[in-house]
Amino acid sequence: MSNSSLVSYTKISPNRSSRNGERITDIIPHHQAGNLSLQTIGDLFADPKRQASSTYSIDVYGGVGLHVDESERPWTTSNAAADRRAVTIEVANSSTGGDWPISEASWNTLVELCVDICRRNGIPKLVWTGGKDGNLKTHDMYAATNCPGPYLKSRMPQLADEVNKRLGVAGSGASAPQQTLGADTAKKSNEEIAREVINGAWGNGQDRTNRLRAAGYDADAIQSIVNRMLAGTYKGGASTAPARKSNDQIAQEVINGKWGNGSDRTNRLRSAGYDPNVIQNLVNQKLGVKTSPSGGKTVEQLAREVWAGKWGSGQDRVNRLWAAGYDANAVQRMVNKMYG
Ligand SMILES: [Zn+2]
Repeated sequence: MSNSSLVSYTKISPNRSSRNGERITDIIPHHQAGNLSLQTIGDLFADPKRQASSTYSIDVYGGVGLHVDESERPWTTSNAAADRRAVTIEVANSSTGGDWPISEASWNTLVELCVDICRRNGIPKLVWTGGKDGNLKTHDMYAATNCPGPYLKSRMPQLADEVNKRLGVAGSGASAPQQTLGADTAKKSNEEIAREVINGAWGNGQDRTNRLRAAGYDADAIQSIVNRMLAGTYKGGASTAPARKSNDQIAQEVINGKWGNGSDRTNRLRSAGYDPNVIQNLVNQKLGVKTSPSGGKTVEQLAREVWAGKWGSGQDRVNRLWAAGYDANAVQRMVNKMYG
């Protein structure tokens, strides 16, 4: 077991524990939701009261800090089992708010660091599926959080691709499935891809269209199959399309945990043709959520963040709060109370 030679600053955090014999198989990039120097984040993680750490941090200039030895489990992802198998990386944001971008310097280091982690730990390939079944994962798969932010999240397929190219294995599975297959395997059928779209593996909107086209698929043909599958009118193939469910049924499924959390849930609902805000409203009604948010932050914290502009404005803000699992109405009332 070793650590990356890319490290230029080391401050080991007390917030760490044993991997309980688990091997490192996963990488989980996070965003800092801020722009911290290696020293500053090292100091934050040095505080035992924070109960938080990461294996590595990357600053906006592309420098790398080490905070937990790779041989130990970092406390980063709100999930012990996930962190036991993972190396975690907290990446600085080049500006705060919006889609929480990171700098190109940080990006280049992130690629290099992931390649290095894979090589030293015998990870043959990074697989991004958009879900927990890949070994490139994100915080929002485990908690109601915006982490790693829309920008970094949207580049996960590209991260897998670039790392795999450097490792000498092609493709990420999600962004370029046909490249993951050898010459002896065929490209997937439009029907298979349509099912992947419904499962959220191809993202949404124009991004989805672009990725399908880049991978050599006919995006329009696939959308047409998706629409028919969701409407229950798809006749092709042997498999039966899922019947369209009521918003109420879906809300109950969300409560039962069938749709995951955070932006992963939002993406999957949207891909399946449901309005995540409508569903979240129903979920909150069913759960009796009124003035307290269902997520990890207090209404007061959220009100301060809204006032600081971290959640955007207008309907976009409302949508984002709901999608993150918060009661946007309760937050707005608190904003009015605190600042009105
Ligand atoms: Zn995170």
